[in-house]
Parts: sequence; C-alpha cells; structure tokens
Amino acid sequence: MKHPVFAANWKMNHAPADATEFLRQFLAHYPRQQDRTVLIFPPALTLHAVTAGLKERSDILVGVQNIHWEDKGAFTGENSAPIARAAGARYVLVGHSERRHVFGETDEETGKKVAAATRAGLVAVICVGETLEQRECGDTESVALRQLRAAVANVDAHHIGGYMVAYEPVWAIGTGKNATPADASAVHAALRKDLRSLAGERGAAVPILYGGSVNSGNAAALLGASDVDGLLVGGASLNAEAWTAIVRT
Ligand code: PEP
Repeated sequence: MKHPVFAANWKMNHAPADATEFLRQFLAHYPRQQDRTVLIFPPALTLHAVTAGLKERSDILVGVQNIHWEDKGAFTGENSAPIARAAGARYVLVGHSERRHVFGETDEETGKKVAAATRAGLVAVICVGETLEQRECGDTESVALRQLRAAVANVDAHHIGGYMVAYEPVWAIGTGKNATPADASAVHAALRKDLRSLAGERGAAVPILYGGSVNSGNAAALLGASDVDGLLVGGASLNAEAWTAIVRT
C-alpha cells in the first residue's frame, strides 16, 4: 500500500488573504486522513497565513520554495533555512527547475542548500529533471542522477533517508505535457536504485514524487505507476477544488 505524498507548489501566487480563502475551501472538503501526506509550499510572505490557517490541522505540513545556503548574513532579499524553520516551515524545495533555469541555480548551489536545510531540520525535497533537449539526446536518467548526486554531495549518507526527491521533467512543468506513467516509472526506478546505493534501505524508502502538469485527470494514472510515491503539483494546486480532487486521488 502506498502512503502517497501530495505537495502543492504555489510558486509566486496567492497573497495571504488568497491563502486564507483557499484553506477555508480546501479544509472544508478535505477531512484529516492518515493514509496520505499533504504539503503546501506557499510564497515566503504567505507562509504565516498558511500556518495560521492550519493551526487545527497538524496533518498538513508547510514548506518554503527556496532557501539561501548560508544560515544568516548580508544576503538582501534571501531567506535562510533557520529563519524558514522558525517561521513554521518543515520542508523546503531545493533545485526546482525554475530556480535552476530562470535564476541560474547550479548543481553546486543545490548541494549547499540541501546541507543548509539539513542543519536547520528542514526536510529537503530535491527536485531533478531534464530539459527537452537533454531528453532528446537520451540523457534523461543521467541528468536526474547527476542532479541527485550533486544535491547530496555535502551531507552524510545517513541524512539521505530523511529527504524526498521530486522528478520534474523541465519540459512538463507548466506546459500541459506530462510524462507518461511508464516514463515516470523508469526514471523513478533509476533514482531509487541510486538512493539505495547511496543510503541503503532508508535511501530506497525515500518518497519520489512526480511533478509536471499534474491535474485531477491524470493524477490517478501517474500515482498508480510503480515507484511513483506522490505528486508535486504547480498550476493545478492553486485552485482549491482542483487541489482537493488531486489529494483525494
Ligand atoms: C511545479 O512547479 O513544481 C510544477 C510541477 O508545476 P505544474 O504542475 O504547473 O507543471
């Protein structure tokens, strides 16, 4: 039996009042359930509204979409892992494709961010995935594995079992094109094999989420694929009704 993880990445959407209204609608239709994990990644300035809205719902956990790799200092505009943790975040997305491809985040930086998250007690959700060009060159798995290895390069292996991994092909994010369940399974299996070789059975048990144009119509098929342990959802997580349908998959 899977214990699926459903993670909502709101990206740069939903001001505090929007988040409050979203939670009012979502919580009314999603009673506490023990058989799945639900995570919400709001913009940092909306984090407080989300933690406040979830005061009575400890079953739903909150994360930030990014952190700096330093714990504090002169980094105007940035948020650190300890600050995110103190503000109520328990998870952090690291290496999301928009961080890599819009903001130029490197593999090396993702490695430093995973280490910072680990020091602060945040669960790192390590995002990996190939561009269309890399896919067409047959490099899908090698890119995902290289990004995974770089992300965990600065931490002791025993920490790896505490992370999550999200396979998000860049060409599928926000495009309406998703990987087929079979394609996702193949990459997830390769990631799991590598996690096992890095960290043994605890590594092999790391939840591996699929992300990229997930919606209420394709969620069940993707979640049913072998080695797919959950879904990381962008666009379709913004609407309470669509998100409710996905988490009830
Ligand atoms: C994402 O941003 O992580 C994502 C998967 O986006 P979308 O669902 O919109 O493709």
